[in-house]
Amino acid sequence: MPPGMCRELSLTARDLVRRIASDAGQSYSEIARRVNQDMAKGKNLLSAVHEIARENGLDPGRYTLDPEKIAEEIRTILRKDYAQTLMISAVLAQMVESRGRDSLSPPAFFTFMEFLADATAAPKRREKRIGNVEEATTKIIELTTTLVSVICDWSRTGIVGVAESCPEPLRGLARVILRKTRLYQAGMWTCISCGKIVSIRETRALLCKECDARLPGPTTLKRTPPKRERHRTGYGRTVPGDTID
Ligand SMILES: [Zn+2]
Repeated sequence: MPPGMCRELSLTARDLVRRIASDAGQSYSEIARRVNQDMAKGKNLLSAVHEIARENGLDPGRYTLDPEKIAEEIRTILRKDYAQTLMISAVLAQMVESRGRDSLSPPAFFTFMEFLADATAAPKRREKRIGNVEEATTKIIELTTTLVSVICDWSRTGIVGVAESCPEPLRGLARVILRKTRLYQAGMWTCISCGKIVSIRETRALLCKECDARLPGPTTLKRTPPKRERHRTGYGRTVPGDTID
């Protein structure tokens, strides 16, 4: 690879952090912890990374994320293979309900749901499988958590608005995520099947009671309501020692 070529293009926060850690000669976990701490104080992801760049004598302009490219990558993966996309959504639905280390932040899940609606409405194009569902799932988690952290403004308590820097084509998406996150914080959930807004306590495996009753047989998903904290995950899955909660 020619030096300085593909290295400039990060699509995920994880990749961006890895790149700046390597350029600054520090460990990934050191930088990740620092970014997580800054974000917990309400600083946005890119400002946190740019400050680290300046402290290390690096050009902040080399460490950016392009929300539209991230969105394009999410669409590409979800349109690749319908069966795989369904498997990814089953995994993510379980993760957003999970209380463990593997839980997915609700805003990232809401982001995913918006793209999923788009992908399933589009004509199905069958392409070569990208192979591994687990790999594709991890990629989707990293991309959605990164996207939501750059198109929305965050504070210590979660999403507080649409980022000023959010590009026009993604502002509608950012507003939907903001609205669903606020509802969630107020104990409400948007049924992932019919879109009806119900109390979190009345949900069954992310569905409203009516949609759940229409499902044939027992679902494989755990029947517990999603938990209500953890609104902010800096990027992707957390790494041991990097959690802020
Ligand atoms: Zn429903």
